Amino acid sequence: MNGYFDHNATTSLHPAAREAWLRASEKHWHNPSSLYRDAGLASQQLESARERLGTLIGAEAERIVFTSGATESNNALFATLPPDALVLISAIEHPSVREAARGRNVMELPVNTDGVVEPDVLKHHISTRRPALVSVMAANNESGALQPWQELAALCREQGVLFHTDAAQWLGKLDASDLGTCDYITGSAHKFGGGKGCGFLVLQQEDSRLGFIRGGPQENGRRAGTENYPAVEAMVTALETVTPRLSEAAKTQSILRDAFIASLRTRFEALRVISESAPRLWNTVLMVMPEHDNLKWLTRLSRRGFSISTGSACSSGKEGSSVVVTALGADAAELKRVVRISSGWDSSAADWQALAAAFAEVFEELNRGGRPL
Ligand code: PMP
Repeated sequence: MNGYFDHNATTSLHPAAREAWLRASEKHWHNPSSLYRDAGLASQQLESARERLGTLIGAEAERIVFTSGATESNNALFATLPPDALVLISAIEHPSVREAARGRNVMELPVNTDGVVEPDVLKHHISTRRPALVSVMAANNESGALQPWQELAALCREQGVLFHTDAAQWLGKLDASDLGTCDYITGSAHKFGGGKGCGFLVLQQEDSRLGFIRGGPQENGRRAGTENYPAVEAMVTALETVTPRLSEAAKTQSILRDAFIASLRTRFEALRVISESAPRLWNTVLMVMPEHDNLKWLTRLSRRGFSISTGSACSSGKEGSSVVVTALGADAAELKRVVRISSGWDSSAADWQALAAAFAEVFEELNRGGRPL
């Protein structure tokens, strides 16, 4: 039984990515900036990985800057904006967008009751405010709600406004081949089996403003520091490996997830699933439990071998209260009862059923005042 249901927080290294990392580390460990033949080979491999990533996400390779992950990518992008620039971000962005945007002239785009940004709302704000940049994530990390980024990007293009999407949760779960239509894209390897400390930011073709990390000519002068080719190779290999499996995983996991919700509802009638009527990531359920604080659920499920989460990461690096449920106007008591389940590509029917059974068991335990069964 695999009780890991926190794939939106991170994933384990995919075996293909591990192999790729080892091969790259053993064969091409040289500094890609050095001038001898082996270094040149490492540099060629790095550029070939950039091309392969470009093909996967529909963006020209020259637009891609490798970074240490989505947090760096988001910070690097916002650092390019002048302090007085007006930026529209959705009310449900990850803290790495919200906090990176702080200090600019930031306006929040509200979400509807499904936790989704509506194109008409964006259209209205663009025409009245003329922002320099709009940033709306592709899929929400807590609720899994898919944002209509294709429409939002097209709208921004029509209006001559730059559009950024944080696609950290979309990549490795849904087809990403059109992402390149956005002006700026954020991605993170560890969300799709590619290892931690590696990610990317896609810029506009001619964009050379990025100078967040200075001190060297690497990444076309846009991000200094010796490139981590093995990590990049692992990331690209992971995405290449999971991409052909996505439509099958989407089909299987969403059926298993919905059966899990139905099973929980037989016991907890008042269970509230956030964004339930919106298109969502196939692996995610964000729910407000009808009773008992989320940490009580989490610790007791953990004792039974299940890993779940209470919401999103907050600034202390620990889990804080849910950004999404807050944006939807929940009260403090509800916020304390939020739990998030996020499956993986290979979570089995037995894993999901065991999780539902564990919820039922924990409920009994909590109703007896917390004494173990
Ligand atoms: N954006 C989103 C939407 C995320 O889900 C996460 C990870 N929780 C991040 C950014 C930060 O990613 P990283 O760990 O790569 O910095």
